Amino acid sequence: TERSLVLVKPDGYRRGLTGEVLRRIEAKGYTLAALAVVSPTREQLAAHYAEHEGKPFYEPLLEFMSSGPVTAAVVEGNGCIAGFRALAGATDPTAAAPGTIRGDLGRDWGVQVQQNIVHGSDSARSAARETAIWFPELG
Ligand code: ATP
Repeated sequence: TERSLVLVKPDGYRRGLTGEVLRRIEAKGYTLAALAVVSPTREQLAAHYAEHEGKPFYEPLLEFMSSGPVTAAVVEGNGCIAGFRALAGATDPTAAAPGTIRGDLGRDWGVQVQQNIVHGSDSARSAARETAIWFPELG
């Protein structure tokens, strides 16, 4: 079966949405292979978002991701990489469809697009790379 690395970002943590995100993951039939609340280091975030280094939103993104705890999860299930991204909805909560995590729970007033509650791996390769960052003991 497939595995995806999911993060509940600091906005989700602060707003008490961690349980709601995990509930939707489990309701879909996926299982949690690993789960941890962590205060990310700058090094972890730089590794996680390496592909975005140099983009205008990179520094604000790292700053936001450093602003509080995140919950990291390894989610397991058939097709869960694409499946979780479908559950999450479009990157920009304003554009995200109703029924998705970002569409239902994302606030589209006065917040930046980076505050979009969750992250999910975009490929099996990304999932393996990201799992090593957040759960080095699983490597
Ligand atoms: P994620 O990787 O978090 O699931 P994604 O794959 O939909 O989201 P990416 O394009 O990989 O989005 O961007 C990673 C993250 O960077 C986004 O989730 C968002 O928090 C932030 N981000 C992306 N584009 C912008 C932007 N134009 N302005 C501000 N933040 C952005």
